[in-house]
Amino acid sequence: MIERKDLIITGEFSTIAGPCAVESEEQIYNIATVLSQMGIKALRAMYGKPRTNPKDFQGIGLGILPTLREIKRKTDLIIVSEIQDKDDLEVTKGTVDVIQVGSRNMQNYPLLRACAKDGRPVILKRGMISTAKEWVSATQYLGPNYLDKVVLCERGIRTGIDGEGQPARFTLDIAGAVAVRNEYGIPIIGDPSHAAGRRDLVPPLARSIAAAGLDGMIIEVHQNPDAALCDAKQQITPETFREVLGQVQAIHRVVYPYKEGSAI
Ligand code: PEP
Ligand code: MN
Repeated sequence: MIERKDLIITGEFSTIAGPCAVESEEQIYNIATVLSQMGIKALRAMYGKPRTNPKDFQGIGLGILPTLREIKRKTDLIIVSEIQDKDDLEVTKGTVDVIQVGSRNMQNYPLLRACAKDGRPVILKRGMISTAKEWVSATQYLGPNYLDKVVLCERGIRTGIDGEGQPARFTLDIAGAVAVRNEYGIPIIGDPSHAAGRRDLVPPLARSIAAAGLDGMIIEVHQNPDAALCDAKQQITPETFREVLGQVQAIHRVVYPYKEGSAI
């Protein structure tokens, strides 16, 4: 069991939940309230989105930061947000508690070096075509004390062409994640949403992440997934999430029985 309370890895099944993207003040307020009432401690609150097509919704932008601060004040939620540009680091201080470096930026070394200087905890997602070794190597760009500030996130790797011969968007490399965790002792969470790419596969992948003994998950939850501005197909409703959360917590307690009875 890895416990890194400063890194949102609490020794329980650490769950970061929220929509793919912040779409409006109202949307993020509403979902933050619902998730907080479920006992969730960390909110996925992405103000900017790395999209494959530049014409797609790029995120609401930095203008949402005051709203995120208000949510944090009212709910005590930890704000997790992807930072794509090192120029955003300064302005997000005091709002974004945990920086996500996304799959597309795993090997963006100037960004990782800037995160090293910044000092906040980083969730480093695995590049979608990166080997486990490249993923672990990238953590060292987070500075000499990188092990004190990094959580890895297995989000699935490319093993086929989207929609052609592969039902899921990516292949969640559970074995690779467990091997890296065992070998390096770095906490690792899983992302069932981006690996699945479709709603029906999210709950089983979430359960498999917990069953493998990983430290938690980051999962996309939206109050009206079909109307979501991005990743509509893979987002789940709060109702489904409540069910999945109960399952992963129960599974986690089976895997780590001495934690039985404790909260999230
Ligand atoms: C995300 O988590 O918002 C995201 C874009 O995921 P990934 O970087 O894994 O594609
Ligand atoms: Mn998404």
